[in-house]
Order: sequence, then C-alpha cells, then structure tokens
Amino acid sequence: MRVPFLSLAGIAVCFADVLAATSTNPPPAVTAIRAARWLRVESGEVVSNAVVVVSEDRILAAGPAGTVVVPAEAKVIDFPRGTLLPGLIDGHTHLTFDVEPGWENGSVRESAAESALRGARNAAVTLLTGFTTVRNLGAEGFADVALARAVEKGWVIGPRIIPCAHVLSPTGGPGDNDGFIPGVVERGYRQGVADGVEAAVAAVRYQIKHGAKVVKVMATAGVMSFEGTAGAQQFSESEIRAICEEAHRHGVRVAAHAHGPEGIEAAIRAGADSLEHGSLMSDAGIALMKDKGTWLVPTLATWYWDQFTPEDSYPAAMWKKIRSMGRLRVEFQKKAIAAGVKVALGSDAGTYPHGKNNLEFWQLTEFGLTPLQAVQAGTIRAAEMLGMEKEIGRVSPGFLADLVVVDGDPVADIRAMERVGFVMKGGVVYTNAWPGR
Ligand SMILES: [Zn+2]
Repeated sequence: MRVPFLSLAGIAVCFADVLAATSTNPPPAVTAIRAARWLRVESGEVVSNAVVVVSEDRILAAGPAGTVVVPAEAKVIDFPRGTLLPGLIDGHTHLTFDVEPGWENGSVRESAAESALRGARNAAVTLLTGFTTVRNLGAEGFADVALARAVEKGWVIGPRIIPCAHVLSPTGGPGDNDGFIPGVVERGYRQGVADGVEAAVAAVRYQIKHGAKVVKVMATAGVMSFEGTAGAQQFSESEIRAICEEAHRHGVRVAAHAHGPEGIEAAIRAGADSLEHGSLMSDAGIALMKDKGTWLVPTLATWYWDQFTPEDSYPAAMWKKIRSMGRLRVEFQKKAIAAGVKVALGSDAGTYPHGKNNLEFWQLTEFGLTPLQAVQAGTIRAAEMLGMEKEIGRVSPGFLADLVVVDGDPVADIRAMERVGFVMKGGVVYTNAWPGR
C-alpha cells in the first residue's frame, strides 16, 4: 500500500489543497467523521461504526453511531475501512536539520533563516505523515521557534511544534560546535553553551525568553559530534540540577540527551523529565527512572535507519561511534523497556529522513512494547510527557480535533501506522488521500 504524499510533487498538490481549504474556501464549521473502526487509545477498546463530530478546532462528540447527534449542516467524511486514531505525536524531532553530506559544517554555511525554511519543508512532510504535534529538540538561531510561530500563524503547514531553541551543552560538548579551529563559531550561553551553574541558568533563561517551550540538556556526549566517546558525561550533576530547577520554575520541562550510564543517572537524579536515547542504561538508572517517573524516549528508528544511510553522510569518526553504540544499546534499551519504565515515542527524525517518523511505532514493538502500547506511546503517552494530556493524544470531546486514519488495524499489524491516509489538525483536513477514495 502506498504512503501518500511523501514526494515533493505530492506535497505541492497538498499545499494547493490546503490553501484552498484555509483561504478561499474555509472548512465547514462542523464536520462529522464516520469510521468503521475507531481505536480508543486510552483503553484499547475498538468502537465499530464510530462517529466523531468536529466543530471548528475541537472535538464536539465521539462515540458509536446512534449515540452521537450529527448536526444537519455537518460535512460528512466516511471511512468504511481503516482505523481512526488521534493525531500522532513525536516527542523528538529535528525539523530544521537533515543529515546530508557536509551537514557537520552547517553552522558556518547555513543561516538560521535557511534552517527555518528547511524546517518548513520538513514540517509539511511530517504533518502529512500523520504527526500533528512534535517536540523539536534543537535548532540554530531560534529557527524552530520561528517555524513553530509560522505554523501557528498559518504561513506554512506543519505539526504543532514545541521548540527547545538551542540545546544546552558545556564547552566542547555535543551542543557546541566541535571540529573547527579556535575562533570559529565560538558559542556562549545565548547559543546554549554554558560552563558552571550561573551560566547554565542564564542559558535556560535566554532560550525561554526567546520562545523555548522545552529545555534540552546534553547530559552526555553524542554520536553526531566529535567528542572522543559518545557516552561520557558532559555537564556536572549540579549544572544539570540548576538547569532543571530553573526550567521548572518557568513551568518548562527538561529533556536530557544521554547515552552513557553516569550521565543518565545524573540527569534523572537532577530532575530531568525525559531521557532521550537512554542507550546504555544501568540497572541503577532503570531503578531511578521508575522511582522518579522519568520518561524514556528511546529513538529507535534512527538506529534502524543507519543501514540505509549513505557512507558519506557522516565523517569516519562519527560512523565509528554510531556503530559501536548501535551494537551496545540494543540489550540495554530492551532491558529498560521490559522493566516497565514510562515510554513515549520520539523518532529523532532529521538524523534520518523526515516523513519516516512512523517507523518508530514498529521499532518500539521490536524492543518489547505491545502494538497497543506502541500506539499509546505516540499518542496519549507522548501527550502526557509534553504535559498536554488535556488537549491532545486522544479522541474525546473538548480535545483538539487532531485525527488520523491508518490503513489496517495497528493492533494486529503495527506497520499499519506507516500507512496514514487522512490527517486533520485542529479541525483542518490536510490530506485525505485514502486509497480508493
Ligand atoms: Zn535528537
């Protein structure tokens, strides 16, 4: 089965549809969606012959046919097959970034304005793949904040974006720009690079001042940067604690990038809300996560995609780290998931092609979640991680009208999540390319 609208030509067609829908021909005030199957992600219950009534950007009513009143003026959209779900949520994207040859020199070759435009292209692809909300974890020059605002204003199409602006990193860490001679792209707290508690706090305040809605802290080194080992702890625990306390004072959550066990444990103890990657999780780390209720965003699809990534996409030193970490992490991540830590879906798209975010659902099942749990990780659970569980993540009256229809039954075949044929965000239909329609 084809996955519609992933080609650039397809996007152009869809842009035209969207422009028609949003400007010259505004969407009807009330839409009724009739679906043969609706999977209630909160319970796993399948409702046959479901009806969802959408008024402007909200869900007005949802239930089995006969229990829901459909207003006479409603525009009706029928789905005699497939499964209706809430809009999908990706807790870890890099919309303003693509891995392509030479990307590691991007900071001296690509302006923030160009990154934002790159992000506009990737945001459209992501939305049409079924993701109606994403958390974007890192961008240069506030490009993701600009992109989030452009989507909100209707200048470009894309998911609802929770941006983090610059990632926070100590000097020489994975958020700093390594690999250049001294004097080239030297960064300070405004660009997220900070040493010591005081500078770390200033870095948090500056990102929030300019629009960050989540803070990302690099607790350990990374694979896509030039530090010697990917797993080594970067910020000290007291620096991470200061970052978390400051972010939380502003009501902003903290995502901690962490590969190695020391950095993982320090980030959890210091109060990070989610752990990104969690590649080499120790038993102590797992116990701490369960104790503190820290989310794990294991970003599995990007590792899976490495086998399809052209050799010239990374410098040799990075490939070495990617391959050794890639082998080591499988057992650790499976162990953490089996232990029952809270898991939310995050694809890390951007480090592999945008629009393939849905692969993460299947990958989560390969690492131990049931298909229903995987669907929940990318809907209701991700909404909880973002603190948006009263707005998005389920099909329920009062919630934002974010809906998708996938071809098949994802509980029987999780790869149905990769076949999205209908996307509505905030009551606006962005694609209705259902096979056979
Ligand atoms: Zn990432």
